[in-house]
Amino acid sequence: MKVVEKLKQINKQIDEACLTVDRKTDEVKLIAVTKYVSTERAMEALEAGINDLGENRDEGLLEKWEVLQDKPNWHYIGTLQTRKVKNIIDKVSYIHSLDRHSLAEEINKRANGKIKCLVQVNVSGEESKHGIPFEDAMAFIESLRPYENISVEGLMTMAPLTNDEPILRACFQKLRELRDQVQDLHLDFAPCTELSMGMSNDFKIAIEEGATMIRIGTALVGEDG
Ligand SMILES: *Cc1c(COP(=O)(O)O)cnc(C)c1O
Repeated sequence: MKVVEKLKQINKQIDEACLTVDRKTDEVKLIAVTKYVSTERAMEALEAGINDLGENRDEGLLEKWEVLQDKPNWHYIGTLQTRKVKNIIDKVSYIHSLDRHSLAEEINKRANGKIKCLVQVNVSGEESKHGIPFEDAMAFIESLRPYENISVEGLMTMAPLTNDEPILRACFQKLRELRDQVQDLHLDFAPCTELSMGMSNDFKIAIEEGATMIRIGTALVGEDG
């Protein structure tokens, strides 16, 4: 199916989810995750009207950058190895995966100006998931103050791989509560307004629970079905 057609379906679902909880559609930024697909397919997404693309490996981002350059806003959504920071730092609008001091230090060192970062939180506690453990997240965020080139724009999580709605909801709610707690501190280096949560199988629930950025791959740009 063409991306435009898939986009229509996704937009309809976003509208429905927003309506359910009385939110405005423009409060939710749609990021097309292009990590599984070709540069051509990513280009098709841009032509369909999508402005934000997400990649989880530096190779994937750089390959598509060759062609697409800064036409889209690039979101780095994957685990980021410290030595790869310099490859992507000047190309991305947001880094969604800040989860440790060594990474903060490297971003701070390599940045030419403020970098918008989201702190990735492992809400579910699953060992396979990256991100800072939920219990440690607040202290971690507060400890980012000395890094003058890092702006903590919000929080990101990956929900557990399940269709169990209460489990998903609880995960998103926890992240939202943490976001609100950080916001209440009024830290100048951590405005923390964004909630990056929700993927192909759970974005409607994420929107209902307050997501401001959803990261959709398969359901939006997947080349099958
Ligand atoms: C792959 C990926 C997504 C998109 O996943 P889909 O299930 O294909 O929508 C979202 N966020 C992150 C961090 C990813 O790695």
